[in-house]
Amino acid sequence: MVSLYFHIPFCHSKCPYCHFYTLKSTPSLQTLFSKALFKEFEQKKHLLFGKSITSIYFGGGTPTQMPSAFYAQLLDLITQNCTIDNTCEITIEANPEDLTKEYAQHLSTSRIHRISFGVQAFQPHLLNLLGRRAHKNTCIEAIDIAYTSNIHNISIDLMYEVPNQTVLDFQQSLQHIQTLPITHISIYNLTFEPNTPFKKRETHLAPLLPKESETIKMLACLQNLSHMGFKRYEISAFAKPGFESKHNLGYWTARPFLGFGPSAFSYWNSIRFKNENHLINYCKNIENNRPTIDFSELLEKEARIKELLAVQLRTLDGVNLNQFKAQHGSLSKELHGTIQQLIDQNLLEHSDRLKLTEKGLDFYDSVAQAII
Ligand code: SF4
Repeated sequence: MVSLYFHIPFCHSKCPYCHFYTLKSTPSLQTLFSKALFKEFEQKKHLLFGKSITSIYFGGGTPTQMPSAFYAQLLDLITQNCTIDNTCEITIEANPEDLTKEYAQHLSTSRIHRISFGVQAFQPHLLNLLGRRAHKNTCIEAIDIAYTSNIHNISIDLMYEVPNQTVLDFQQSLQHIQTLPITHISIYNLTFEPNTPFKKRETHLAPLLPKESETIKMLACLQNLSHMGFKRYEISAFAKPGFESKHNLGYWTARPFLGFGPSAFSYWNSIRFKNENHLINYCKNIENNRPTIDFSELLEKEARIKELLAVQLRTLDGVNLNQFKAQHGSLSKELHGTIQQLIDQNLLEHSDRLKLTEKGLDFYDSVAQAII
């Protein structure tokens, strides 16, 4: 089983907290990009021979900046050349303000049945501060458009630790979820990434962040999601039964994936590599059949095992150590020792599977740091 990731680098405008490589799309850039992406697929498709594709993800950037016909053509190309699993999950990321009924229906007829909206918050004062173009009602309407267009697997991203955000704001966002046909939620905290407008304004914005006690209350509110039918299945992800993200589970369980498009990551034959960021350079390299990889890393075995273990521990199901060893190799004495220490500190528990405890969920970063 393998996954595919397609990176669409276009955004209507740049959110001030965002550190991803994005640019404003124009018809000529879209044509250039589309040509290069299709060619990159042609160049790499031999790698997919004999493999079954279990998830396809269109991420960005803002994938909905590309015409819907682009996805129909790309999925046709993949179908003609590869084996797609019957239950393959096909996801597109979208910004709520971009989605029209016609566009959503085209996605649906192209077999895209999962959509992930970058909602972030439902409060106008937070949406303004985050530089988001959507209003609360736009988000609600977009979710309705997706659902009535037969896209029934709907995920949203929500943020916490946003300047001026109150516990009530966060509670209200969760209450909105109750009234909407949402099947999956990813929760993130805002971070001040280098080279972003937010980073430049950090001294001004940091005092406006919720206090630690408020953040704790916001996170405690997440327990209410279980009353709405959601189950936490990864540190930052909640899903209704059967709606866990197959694609993301692949990242956490070392499923091989191929990335396409500028700045797309891949993990293939235990090698992690990344495409060139810059759109024009990426397109030129593809056009001239030159390598477009700007970073590649083959971790030595011990480092790889540690990293895979730490990443898989993000899932609440944890790790079946026997299966893990059979798949990736045995654990060193040192790693066994670290695991035992984390168990002694009540951060991990091990019965049939090794997993985070309640306390470990709150201190995952320390667990990962100790393992890696
Ligand atoms: S829409 Fe997403 S990718 Fe685009 S600038 Fe905003 S946060 Fe970054």
